[in-house]
Amino acid sequence: AKAKAAAKSVERDPDEGLAPVKGFPSGKDAGAGALAKLKTFTKCVLAEYVWLDAKQVPRSKTMTMTSRPSKVSDLRVWNYDGSSTEQADGHNSEVLLKPRAIFNDPFRGPPHVLVMADCWNAWDDKPAIGNTRAECAANMTKYKQLDPWFGIEQEYTLMVPGKVGEKATVPLGFNKDGSAPAPQGPYYTSAGFGVAIGRPIADEHYTMCMEAGVKISGINAEVMPGQWEYQIGPCRGVEIGDHMTMARYIMLRVTEKHGVVCSIDPKPAEGDWNGAGCHTNFSTASMRAKGGYDVIIKICEAFGKVVKQHVQDYGEDNHKRLTGKHETCDINTFKYGVANRAASIRIPRDAEKDGRGYMEDRRPGANCDPYRVCNRIIITTGECMDQ
Ligand code: ADP
Ligand code: MN
Ligand code: MN
Ligand code: MN
Ligand code: MN
Repeated sequence: AKAKAAAKSVERDPDEGLAPVKGFPSGKDAGAGALAKLKTFTKCVLAEYVWLDAKQVPRSKTMTMTSRPSKVSDLRVWNYDGSSTEQADGHNSEVLLKPRAIFNDPFRGPPHVLVMADCWNAWDDKPAIGNTRAECAANMTKYKQLDPWFGIEQEYTLMVPGKVGEKATVPLGFNKDGSAPAPQGPYYTSAGFGVAIGRPIADEHYTMCMEAGVKISGINAEVMPGQWEYQIGPCRGVEIGDHMTMARYIMLRVTEKHGVVCSIDPKPAEGDWNGAGCHTNFSTASMRAKGGYDVIIKICEAFGKVVKQHVQDYGEDNHKRLTGKHETCDINTFKYGVANRAASIRIPRDAEKDGRGYMEDRRPGANCDPYRVCNRIIITTGECMDQ
């Protein structure tokens, strides 16, 4: 029995029932309230496996473990019913979950964990539908010597819930009948009742991300009422997708408690309202080093030659947002420039001044797949640097 207890943290052994664990709540005490008390039971660790479905929406389910995993290899490959998520058919439904990163579970508290997993077909061990991480990870490995860093600014819009399962259409802060509030202007980086709308959600998400160990670098209120932004990064290579995914998952969990919906639609309200994007900030070792400004210009020029490929990977419905208005560059035009918020790529003023730094691709939409965006960026950059 001792050997068993010392074994790797895999799924619980039948001999190691939960009840014998000293003090573990049982019978009528074992309800939802008791779950919160699990923090105090070190023999019982809940691992919430998180993955992306066919539409890039995070899903999750929980596994009881007997000790806290300290590294990815302490976690077992699990599976789920891919026929319920449009990733498999009912006759051959198993999709595998391969653990890739461990975070703290800020909802259940210590010692519980969130596990970022990616999805693989059980039948041929190929990446499942929607697993864009696999290709991204491969290209990040291929161009490892460039040491790519990414920082993504996730804009999102809090919405009044619609009918169950239906898309919410009214932003929080719009009038009850769906009519528009006073025009944008006062809301961006605002404080105060009636202008900063939804701060408890933005702030709780921020705290939860920090507790989880997600690399969140800041938040701000955005231009449309009910619209906010958080920034993830800098992250190295494929880590950006993992941390972005976990941040989006944590937001979904936070909204459950507040009775609001988080939309990452790139154009959540029609009319004279800013859309929502995922500005992607990017640098390589040579861009960050002395003389890096010239490398930044060279990469911008390379981006200009493959505009279609990039835009294809930057999210659905993004043409509704990239109109040339509302701090965007038209989707069919490519421009880069220092401090230019109407360009496709903005080079920060500091990068020009210091002669090195990073660049900001302003095109990805709020609903973009960060693995696809960063995969495209590293391919174009890698090929350009190879020449
Ligand atoms: P903006 O001025 O466009 O609103 P933000 O402050 O919202 O910029 O976001 C900037 C993002 O750039 C952050 O996520 C930050 O982590 C990231 N970042 C900073 N330096 C670098 C770098 N050298 N390479 C890649 N990303 C970076
Ligand atoms: Mn089942
Ligand atoms: Mn920003
Ligand atoms: Mn912004
Ligand atoms: Mn930005």
